[in-house]
Order: sequence, then structure tokens, then C-alpha cells
Amino acid sequence: MRYFTGIDIGSTASKVVVLDGEGLVERFVLPTGWSSKDTSREIRRRLAELGTPVNDEMKVIATGYGRISVDYADKVVTEITCHGRGGYSLLGRDCSIIDIGGQDTKVITVEKGATVSFLMNDKCAAGTGKFLEIMANRLGVELGEMFAMAARGKPLAISSMCTVFAESEVISQLSKGTDKRDIINGIHQSVAGRVAGLAHRIGIQDQVVMTGGVAQNKGVVKALEEELGCQIHTSPLTQYNGALGAALFAFQKYQKEQKA
Ligand code: ADP
Repeated sequence: MRYFTGIDIGSTASKVVVLDGEGLVERFVLPTGWSSKDTSREIRRRLAELGTPVNDEMKVIATGYGRISVDYADKVVTEITCHGRGGYSLLGRDCSIIDIGGQDTKVITVEKGATVSFLMNDKCAAGTGKFLEIMANRLGVELGEMFAMAARGKPLAISSMCTVFAESEVISQLSKGTDKRDIINGIHQSVAGRVAGLAHRIGIQDQVVMTGGVAQNKGVVKALEEELGCQIHTSPLTQYNGALGAALFAFQKYQKEQKA
């Protein structure tokens, strides 16, 4: 059996997708930790454990900020290109992809199936997963419970754009006795406002897909839908989008080699 594996070593989480010629075989996510070299070794070990070992029967494409650490990859491809490919496969048509990861946010434009432009915020934590993690930590809630809590809250304006100042604002709201659910609602809106600003700068297509770990937070997706005034598509593979794109490139590479 031939396998096509995409490995996305992100700044926060590393994602792995294994395809065979017909579809998805395995997927898993693990924290990147401080050493992407160790993470890539751990991924190789897990692949073997799952019965899909790295060998001549497997093509591997690595992407993400730690992609060069994957010394067993057949090729490395930039994350923007992989995210474009993955997002296109999720929707099957041209779209804008809004990817909110741990430490950066990207808006990618896909036309005729290919990435044609992108804009990235990687200079500031506001509007990224890190912002949400810091706020969740401050509020003593899990990332996974934020949506349900926000859904029962009223919108509260968080005016500071900077993460450090926004955190002080949250502390001050907590000390005033403001309901955590309202604060979380405001946090989601703050992220959505920041990301919508980036999206408006590049312009968005009729179809919008949201990917990255933060797309699992339905509160952010909903707030962003309201900011952009359009429906946003997500999928269960949202956090795996870059790895999925890389695995699809691995399959394409194999097909090209077979034809040559
Ligand atoms: P990167 O590729 O930059 O490492 P990811 O796209 O993997 O980032 O996303 C990581 C981020 O996803 C984390 O910072 C975290 O905020 C967010 N995240 C992970 N799981 C969840 C969840 N269940 N609900 C909401 N956010 C989540």
C-alpha cells in the first residue's frame, strides 16, 4: 500500500495527515514543543506505531515553520501554498482562506485552484490563537468551552488592540464583577475585528473558508461571519488544512513521477 503524508510543523501544534490513493487514512496532532527536530522524530515514531511507517512506499511533504526539521521528507513546501491547496480541496472551488493559528493569521486568495495572493499578521499576538490562550488562561476557562460560554453572554467591548493591554482590561472587568461569559463574547469580537481588518485589506472572495486551530472555536467563526457579512465554511479537518494540502501535493508528486 502506498501512503502520502503531509506534516505541518506549526509554531504551536504539529499536524499529520496520511492519505492513500482513495482518501484519509490517519490524522493526528501533537504540540510542537520547543524542538521541532524532536517533534519530527516523534511523528516518525507515531507513524510507525499506526502501521504507516516512513519507507519507500510513503511520500512525505513537510510544511509549516518547522518544515526543514523533517529530515525524512521528500520535499518541503511553504505553508501558504499548502494552506491554499488544502482550503481549495475542502470547498472544491475558488475561495478566500482565513487561517488563524497559534501565532499568526493569514488570509489567502485562491483562484483557479492556486494561491494567488496572501496577507499575514505574524508581528502581533492580537487576532491569533495566542491571544485566545492568554485570555482563557486569565479567565480560568478551557479553550474548548469558550464558545458555549460566549453564546450565553452579552457583547462587551474590549477596546485595547494590544494583547497586553487587552489582558489588563480583562483583569479590570473581572475585578468589577463582569460576567465571564460577556468578557469571552467581547474577546471573540476583538479577534474577529482584528482578522476582518486583515481580510478587508486583501479583499475576500465570494466563498470563505476558515482553517487553523482557532476555527474550532465557533464563537470566533460566528463573530467573524458577522464582521464580514458572509457565511464562513469550516470542516472537521480545519486544523489539519496545511497538512492536508501537503499530503495532496505528495500524492500529486507521486502521480507525476509515475507518468514520467
Ligand atoms: P500553528 O499552525 O500556528 O501551530 P494551529 O493552526 O495548529 O497553529 O492552531 C493552534 C491554536 O489553535 C492554538 O493556539 C489554540 O488557540 C487553538 N485551538 C486549539 N484547539 C482549540 C479548540 N478546541 N478550540 C479553540 N481553539 C483551539
